[in-house]
Amino acid sequence: MTSTDHQEAALLPNIKELNRKQLADLMADLGEPKFRAGQLHRWLYGMQAQDFESMSSFSLGLRSKLASVWAIRSATVVRADSEMPVSADGNPSTTAKLLIKLPDGELVESVLIPSEERMTACISPQAGCPLQCSFCATGHMGFRRNLFAFEMTDQVYALNEEAQNRYGRGLTNIVFMGMGEPLLNMDNVIEAIGTMTEQNYRFCIGAKRISISTVGLIPGIVRIAESGLRTKLAISIHSADQQKREKLMPVARQYPLDELGRAIAFYNEKTGQPVTLVYMLLAGINDTADDARKLARFAKRVFCKINLIDYNPIVNFKFKPAYSDTRNAFVSQLLDAGLHVTVRKSQGAAINAACGQLATLSGNDGSKPQ
Ligand code: SF4
Repeated sequence: MTSTDHQEAALLPNIKELNRKQLADLMADLGEPKFRAGQLHRWLYGMQAQDFESMSSFSLGLRSKLASVWAIRSATVVRADSEMPVSADGNPSTTAKLLIKLPDGELVESVLIPSEERMTACISPQAGCPLQCSFCATGHMGFRRNLFAFEMTDQVYALNEEAQNRYGRGLTNIVFMGMGEPLLNMDNVIEAIGTMTEQNYRFCIGAKRISISTVGLIPGIVRIAESGLRTKLAISIHSADQQKREKLMPVARQYPLDELGRAIAFYNEKTGQPVTLVYMLLAGINDTADDARKLARFAKRVFCKINLIDYNPIVNFKFKPAYSDTRNAFVSQLLDAGLHVTVRKSQGAAINAACGQLATLSGNDGSKPQ
């Protein structure tokens, strides 16, 4: 391509913004048989083609027709590997954070979390987040926009490549959790999951290895329950006291605990699957014996596991992680109540890659925060 070609392509709409149905309509409008839409999807995502010229199963005429109207633009890694800081724990299997630039210049962060058995990608469904949870850096940066499905699949491809380069093995799990609330971008999240789980694509993963993490948006939980998606669901509870929860997560006013409990029970019934209740222990805020009792009472109403996580301190935020003896007492109380509890050691805090710490830098060019 000449520089003039590049300039012209930059003005063309991005074909990756079309979903599968829209790709089918496009091919139909071009008078192509139905199966060509599947081929186009496979070229774009199965083969991760970056131009139309390489789509060798298409006639030269079709390739040039597409290239005259559409461009292919992807999300790209701005910073990674040695350019990004690595966790200070000295562990070779260290958490890594990628700064990803979307085609319009917006930035999101994605995190690679390795462990002995797993290689987990934590990806962002939104640039920023409108929900303003009080403990979360993303919430404080405001909302920019929902991501297209391809901007989520591109994060996965980038993290998979990063995992291969760093550790010689690919992703085993994906979590929709990074920046933003996935259930506020459901159509595109579902579209992205459809692509990620497409068999025989260069990257493919089983739906059961994908987890959607929400702060508890009831319409989204109901939709997932009814969708037939075989993904897992994690719900951030953080307090089973309605007033405290509203202070931590303002959206809880709209979706009170009683209704949330009913939505989870509906999910359990429809899918036969448990949910994971995620609870972040905050010193002096939600870590008392009364808090544990309320959490146990809530959890016993539904089919669930409880995942306790440490709070990762953020500069200028008032919250602190719970002390270890308080945490141990909290865990014992839940275990005594007969609940299934795991305590997750936080990873990535040293590079602000841990839960609630993701916030892109101030400029759209990857410059340092002001
Ligand atoms: S915790 Fe999640 S939902 Fe809440 S503000 Fe942060 S990104 Fe948004």
